[in-house]
Amino acid sequence: MRNVDETKGCTHRNSCPMFALFDTADQLDYWRQRYCYSEYDRCARFKSMLAGETPPVQLLPSGRLLRLP
Ligand code: SF4
Repeated sequence: MRNVDETKGCTHRNSCPMFALFDTADQLDYWRQRYCYSEYDRCARFKSMLAGETPPVQLLPSGRLLRLP
């Protein structure tokens, strides 16, 4: 069950592929709660975009790369 304020959080939510991915499984919702709706300024993707870069699709907010099958 999600208890978040949809009006707050990361401004990249509509374009971030990781944000969309986090909605695909309950286990992944942790990332949304931890970063997208709260500590987004600590997200590696956010910081990369802030620096004018395009982060790799598999870059997680923690800075690690998601292993794709
Ligand atoms: S993963 Fe990072 S950049 Fe993407 S929406 Fe969440 S906080 Fe923003």
